[in-house]
Amino acid sequence: MIDLANTPAPETREQQKTDLFGLTLPELVDWLAARGQPAFRARQLAGWLYDALTADFAVMRTLPTLLRDLLAREAEIAGPAVRRELASRDGRTRKLLLALADGRLVESVLMLYPASDESRARATVCVSTQAGCAFGCTFCATGQMGFDRHLTTGEIVAQVVHFARELRREPWIAPDGQRIDRVSNLVFMGMGEPLHNYENTLHAVRILNMAEGLNIGARHVTISTVGLVPGILRLAEEPLQVNLAISLHAPNDAMRLRTMPVTRKYPIAAVLDACQAYTARTNRQVTFEYVLLAGENDGVAQARALAALLRPLRQLCHVNLIPVNATSAAFRPPSGEAIRAFRETLRAGGVSNSVRAERGDDIAAACGQLRTREGRIGKSAPVLPTA
Ligand code: SAH
Ligand code: SF4
Repeated sequence: MIDLANTPAPETREQQKTDLFGLTLPELVDWLAARGQPAFRARQLAGWLYDALTADFAVMRTLPTLLRDLLAREAEIAGPAVRRELASRDGRTRKLLLALADGRLVESVLMLYPASDESRARATVCVSTQAGCAFGCTFCATGQMGFDRHLTTGEIVAQVVHFARELRREPWIAPDGQRIDRVSNLVFMGMGEPLHNYENTLHAVRILNMAEGLNIGARHVTISTVGLVPGILRLAEEPLQVNLAISLHAPNDAMRLRTMPVTRKYPIAAVLDACQAYTARTNRQVTFEYVLLAGENDGVAQARALAALLRPLRQLCHVNLIPVNATSAAFRPPSGEAIRAFRETLRAGGVSNSVRAERGDDIAAACGQLRTREGRIGKSAPVLPTA
């Protein structure tokens, strides 16, 4: 048994404090066991972190004082500093600009959805997985910043915990009277490419999914990727089956290459092969995101080509059309008429589709836009990673 009262002085440990948001329950058990603590303390600690949602060791009164002191010395409940918080006019989209410990800025968004025919009212958090992004898609504000670094597991989890605390303090009452006081859904559609930061992203999903954590069901989690083939194949093998969304945005390589440099490394055919393998392995539907760029990829001919391209996956795919959120790049969303024609052509080609409702346009909701406004930190040129 370690003598809790006799651990090293704070100054010598400060650098190595363990971020508790970066640990699953078994990892918490191990961390505490290494400090002479029984396993049940891990459950108690998780209860304080994710049920009580506290950031203060001093209030964890079910833990002995000596353990609370040890936690204060050797661990931290880290949370990014909120640089700005903006709410859309209807209050259903709330966007945060967060400063990480090293000053890097990332964004997270809470989106509140009323009940629909398909689902109950829900609170969805859109998280960032990287500061910047290495893939340089030309319509994306994050892509234009270049890559700074991967977020740690704890930095990803903390974004969700922030909104969980907000909803706990002030639940949202949906139009049907339902009281929403917890985060129910997660989308990895903030800044960065989740499958480029595979380990930390999946680790964060496991932590957010655990019953002793925020208990967000894997079926309520969507990972969006620019189409990193090895990551898609790896995801197919995960026991935790989350939803997969692919940012396709064009029906052929030549057109895709104009806005998405990653196409050079992973052509559409390779991405679709990986999706076939994914659906075969998981029997789960894949969503294809398609950002509509007026005059670029939004014609009926492109809709026809897209339907033909997705025909082999038809039973297990859905297209989500996203009218582009205008960034500094010279892209504009199509007219309502063009969107209707695109949808109808897809439908006639047997491809189910929907249009993502525009949200929070008044608060720069597309990923990276808020940080772009705020100025850049550590800008570097976009480079394609080898992973
Ligand atoms: N890197 C991942 C996830 C983050 S981006 C990916 O690319 O999938 C999440 C989604 O927002 C992607 O489909 C991306 O293409 C889209 N997106 C990026 N910039 C956008 C913009 N200006 N307007 C609309 N959607 C955008
Ligand atoms: Fe990166 Fe996704 Fe933006 Fe492309 S769309 S630059 S992959 S964040």
